[in-house]
Amino acid sequence: MAKTTAPAKPAKKTVEPTPCFCGCGKDSKGLFAPGHDAKMCSELVKAVAAKKLTKAQALAKAGKASDALKNKLTTMLANADKRFKEKGDRAVARAQAKAARAAARSGDEKVSG
Ligand SMILES: [Zn+2]
Repeated sequence: MAKTTAPAKPAKKTVEPTPCFCGCGKDSKGLFAPGHDAKMCSELVKAVAAKKLTKAQALAKAGKASDALKNKLTTMLANADKRFKEKGDRAVARAQAKAARAAARSGDEKVSG
């Protein structure tokens, strides 16, 4: 009686798909799905601009990513800083004008005495 042995399959190294590091939930063969490293960078920059994260937190979130990506993120954060500062100055001026108008109006409506 011949022994039937299943032919040994050559050990193939399969790369287990891992969820994309950007948080989108897509399977990726590396750390990121294609193009999602840049996506994560811009999301982090937006989160910092919206004050949801500090720069340090944003960089910590990119912790597993490559140094090149972290360098890119640092540059993007610095650039965004400049842009948002310019925008922010105008927004602050507008908010102050609005607050002054609102204060003047509520002063009119107030009945004293
Ligand atoms: Zn992704």
